[in-house]
Amino acid sequence: MPRTGFVTSPAFLQHDTGPGHPERPGRLQAVHERIGAAGLLDELDVLQAAPVDLSWIDAVHAPGHSTGIREAIEGGTSSFDGDTLVSAGSWDAALRAAGGALQAADRIMAGQWSNAFVAARPPGHHAEASRVMGYCLFNNVVITARYLQKHHGLERIAILDWDVHHGNGTQHLTEDDPTIHFTSLHQFPHYPGTGAAGECGHGDGAGSVVNCPMEAGDGDDEYLRVFDARALTAIESFDPEFILISAGFDPHLRDPLSATRVSAEGFRRMSLGITDLARTRCSGKVLSLLEGGYDLLGLAESVEAHISTLLEARA
Ligand SMILES: [Zn+2]
Repeated sequence: MPRTGFVTSPAFLQHDTGPGHPERPGRLQAVHERIGAAGLLDELDVLQAAPVDLSWIDAVHAPGHSTGIREAIEGGTSSFDGDTLVSAGSWDAALRAAGGALQAADRIMAGQWSNAFVAARPPGHHAEASRVMGYCLFNNVVITARYLQKHHGLERIAILDWDVHHGNGTQHLTEDDPTIHFTSLHQFPHYPGTGAAGECGHGDGAGSVVNCPMEAGDGDDEYLRVFDARALTAIESFDPEFILISAGFDPHLRDPLSATRVSAEGFRRMSLGITDLARTRCSGKVLSLLEGGYDLLGLAESVEAHISTLLEARA
């Protein structure tokens, strides 16, 4: 039976964002401890992430974006903006965050894995074509979508983003392209300010973006209603060949960076919804990339629920 992949690397802990930063190495340590204690690590096929070939970053980001980041980090930069802090280990971590996602895509395409979760940091969905932003250096999910198209020859990729913050970078990098569908559920208004319901794609990509703004205070009931009625419906009618998830767990009720109130059970049910859809539409091909999630308990219990569902969904 194809397995569920889990991509990790000690390099992800070397991306040091400094004291008091919410996007911290302890997030991954909490995830590892939780899924280890639950016995899930034994069921997963654990893979160490390798650095991405820079050509795949340059296929998505503007010329000079990756070089500028590398030179700044090598030059000792500790911050790109007030949110996006880095250390000497951040370059290697960022390369492996993107690279691990592409390795997972390869294994899913080869039939070796049914689905996978990439437990990487830094996250990616705020990164714009030529700008780091919101803890993100490279837009890992769009890099993976383009890789699936250019390297594996797929045509239609769906990106589902349930991080509580709108994936502005993902939207901007794909919104004029009808071959990549982007559905996002996010607190609105909230950081980064984009993601209004009226933003639905440009030009040939008109209709390829579905933004589902959620309100402060919304919990499992509100999320699941919108998820079933809008997100799943939109992705199903797009008829994807592969589904990527920007899996941020910061809509969790304990999270310090949101006012939404999703529980681990809510994440389990969204995971079940998308894996069920994937089974009927694209042979179960789901690759999930960690984005946000800043309360250690809320993150760890939600990732456990998510990975449990991926394991149950193996085709
Ligand atoms: Zn977030």
